[in-house]
Amino acid sequence: MKDASSLWAADALLPGGWARGVTLDWDDRGRLTAVRAGTAPEPGRPRAAGPLVPGMPNLHSHAFQRGFCGLTEYRAQVADSFWSWRELMYRCAGRIDPAQAEAIATWLYVEMLEAGYTSVCEFHYLHHDAQGRPYAQAPEMALALLRAADRAGIGMTLLPVLYQAGGFGGVAAHAGQRRFLHDTPAMMRLLDSLKPACDAQGARLGLAPHSLRAVPPGSLREALAGLDALDATAPIHIHVAEQVKEVEDCIAWSGLPPVRWLLEHAPVGPRWCLVHATHMTPDEARDAARTGAVAGLCPTTEANLGDGLFDMVHWREGGGRWGVGSDSHSTVNAAEELQWLEYGLRLAKRQRNVMAEPGQPHVATAMTLAAVAGGARAGGRPVAGLAPGQQADFVELDPDHIALAGLSAQDMLSAHVFGSHRTSAIRSVRVAGRTRVQDGRHALREAAAAAFVEVRRTLVAEA
Ligand code: ZN
Repeated sequence: MKDASSLWAADALLPGGWARGVTLDWDDRGRLTAVRAGTAPEPGRPRAAGPLVPGMPNLHSHAFQRGFCGLTEYRAQVADSFWSWRELMYRCAGRIDPAQAEAIATWLYVEMLEAGYTSVCEFHYLHHDAQGRPYAQAPEMALALLRAADRAGIGMTLLPVLYQAGGFGGVAAHAGQRRFLHDTPAMMRLLDSLKPACDAQGARLGLAPHSLRAVPPGSLREALAGLDALDATAPIHIHVAEQVKEVEDCIAWSGLPPVRWLLEHAPVGPRWCLVHATHMTPDEARDAARTGAVAGLCPTTEANLGDGLFDMVHWREGGGRWGVGSDSHSTVNAAEELQWLEYGLRLAKRQRNVMAEPGQPHVATAMTLAAVAGGARAGGRPVAGLAPGQQADFVELDPDHIALAGLSAQDMLSAHVFGSHRTSAIRSVRVAGRTRVQDGRHALREAAAAAFVEVRRTLVAEA
């Protein structure tokens, strides 16, 4: 059944705030052609049952990591850390084949849609086979992710990862990293070969230099030039300053902390997403924010890995943009990332409603609008909310959910973020106007879940 190309909602969250009596119209591609507030419902035009909020772009995902959630939550060393977690992650990553990656990603994208995400930036580095040899068809793993996104119906920005070294100064990569490695010309060929498949399904292709520890300066320059030749507006994502050790190693190597190094040696600007950027000096935070780059925040993963708290205070002083990602997928829930981001700030500052804006005192509303705008910029796709020219990506809250029933639309969103069982307060989700979740469930839920569980059983048995 073809979805309607028009919908009326009593309440909808537009880029400027909540509006009453909103009529949305979209075209065959799922792009909004008109967004009109103050309208009355018309006979024959479908009506939303609950308030509409823009779909959340998930700006940072490593899909395969969903396959081993729960398997690293025990103490293996006296002081477990990101680095001991990474060893366990590499052991799991070493075994996954393309069919398994596709099954894991399909289930993950179903979960994302049910949890309010309507597009995803895949920071994809599992390129080669388990021995580190390219597949016969080199982009096989990336194509598996594109197929998963297409089946689930989630929008995608595909970010093949450039990974060349095991540490700052070109330290050789070790065996656990062999599936990730490309020289720069090989990466350019990979991008070229993926462009048609991305274009065919409306996915955006960008590039992710993994981190400064994994990409030497000369390769970074060459790869960015190569990307510009392919698409001079393509998104660029990089992990940066996630861990104190990474900052210390970068200073030992270059005399500068990693964000400062990037600002001085790379054209950081609005095309860039600085993923994590947890450990910055106040000056670094303000200066990086002023470039227009998006901070890619993954609060539940950063908590799970013990990374630290992002310096939102100085980032905002620089007018910084930000969005959220589910990264390692220990949590897959757009509302929960917002909740954790705000709670981290409340605990650190001993204040409440830290992320309110001068014109928007309601924290959940202010955070949703900021994260949608930042996530859309990071993904390089027209998913920046309910406005003409943007994609019709939106979430309908469930007005009958016990946590929401009887509240104003604005308070329903607050309850969804801070006081509900989160995913269960979502009634439906549309991507490019097409219904992907109805009554809280995705049509592929049972089949995708069964395939995922089977793959995980195999992976755990092989461990
Ligand atoms: Zn990451």
